[in-house]
Amino acid sequence: MEAWMAFVVLSFLAYSICLKLGEYMLVCLMHWRLDAKEKARYASLDCWCRSAIPFCDTLIIWRGNSLPNGFGRCAVCPTTSLINHSCSPNGFLNWDDKRRHMTVHVMRPIKKGDEITISYVNVNLKAEDRQLELRHKHRFTCTCPACSATEEALQASDKRRERIGLLTDGAARRVLSPRTDISMKEIEELLMLLDEEYGDPSYKGDVCMEAHAVKLKEGGDKVAARTWAAKGYKLMLLTKGASSREVQLAKHASSQ
Ligand SMILES: [Zn+2]
Ligand SMILES: [Zn+2]
Repeated sequence: MEAWMAFVVLSFLAYSICLKLGEYMLVCLMHWRLDAKEKARYASLDCWCRSAIPFCDTLIIWRGNSLPNGFGRCAVCPTTSLINHSCSPNGFLNWDDKRRHMTVHVMRPIKKGDEITISYVNVNLKAEDRQLELRHKHRFTCTCPACSATEEALQASDKRRERIGLLTDGAARRVLSPRTDISMKEIEELLMLLDEEYGDPSYKGDVCMEAHAVKLKEGGDKVAARTWAAKGYKLMLLTKGASSREVQLAKHASSQ
């Protein structure tokens, strides 16, 4: 290996280690600043280690319980942390920046006593990869309906989820692409797959808003764009709630 390549690799490694160390130091500092009641609540959260090694449990609880809240940030929300995992969850987590609350929205009608679930991992991963991450980060094997389906159904689900992930990642490219016909075809396919795999509003609201943006580009088909925004608003209201900024933007777009 050339010297400069070794330098680049080592610098990147050092950078990653510094970043993680920085994050862990910040977590320990934030934990230290909690009051006794908050500390007890934090300590009651799920942790597979429970040892006397300083900071160890604090960091393991952080790894297993922190949730993204806004761009590039994470938080531990003790109540939300009590919700169990499912790979086909009926609950949708959304951070409410205005009220500074993690909100949970239920995507399908539930009966009294039904369990509300959320997903701890990217649901679009293959079953095997979901299990790997759950075992690594949370130390359990998932037995949700999606994971305990027959081999055949599992393979079909994997294929759908893989395609959903791919199409979801293509959102930015589609909005910029001059081939709006191809973009719209992909969007329709994504909506169909989401329906088949999850059968609830899930991420469809975001996809409708993407269709809204594509339609506005396409020589400015305002009527079609408004229809997509109205659809997106209805779906996003179910998964993100009326106070979400995205939902308010969608509402505004549907009346333009
Ligand atoms: Zn520990
Ligand atoms: Zn599962």
